[in-house]
Amino acid sequence: MNIVLLGSPGVGKGTYAKRISKIYNIPHISTGDMFREAIKNKTEIGLKAKGYMDKGELVPDDVTIKTVEERLKKDDCKNGFMLDGFPRTIAQAEALDKIIVIDKVLNFTASDEVIIDRLSGRRVCKSCGAIFHIRNIIPKTEGVCDNCGGELYQRDDDKPESVKKRLDVYREQTEPLIEYYKEKELLADIDANKPIEQVDEIIADVRKALEE
Ligand code: AMP
Repeated sequence: MNIVLLGSPGVGKGTYAKRISKIYNIPHISTGDMFREAIKNKTEIGLKAKGYMDKGELVPDDVTIKTVEERLKKDDCKNGFMLDGFPRTIAQAEALDKIIVIDKVLNFTASDEVIIDRLSGRRVCKSCGAIFHIRNIIPKTEGVCDNCGGELYQRDDDKPESVKKRLDVYREQTEPLIEYYKEKELLADIDANKPIEQVDEIIADVRKALEE
């Protein structure tokens, strides 16, 4: 199954994606993770992406589309995949439609208050990318990843100066995708306005939407 995850930054897509990817045995493809990895490795794409990401802006469509197109050609995508953070513009969605057929789009929703809290408290493992939160998903040892012992850090773009910009960009450039996929009858809304203890309920709603 070829799945797209939509929803504001901070709604929890990365957390749900890791769970869904295990259940359905399909790769979790996060363009944000791919760009962060490229920056770490100082590749050409990383150098192009860095300035935009630091400002909370979108990386240009041509760079992003090419990155995803290459990734989708890999063997592990043969039986399906889950895109997290792509598409983020109508141009990206149109390009994706030319590359492959999408079966379902999950649109995660939560209030502004919950989203800002999730973004500002998020901590990420430098080594394995696992996601924690200073109040809601607390690691056993402060600053240390439960999974791999890696160092937890706050993403630069989760700091207050970038968060507002990212939310504005989401509203202006990404939210129109909700209508785009609704018209194609691919969209399923998932209520993510629940505390982390209820993440199992969110995943159960996802399974219902994917299996109906
Ligand atoms: P994320 O980890 O999904 O929050 O993405 C972090 C940052 O990576 C975004 O704020 C953008 O600068 C960049 N990015 C990720 N995905 C895309 C995309 N589909 N189009 C453009 N920029 C992206």
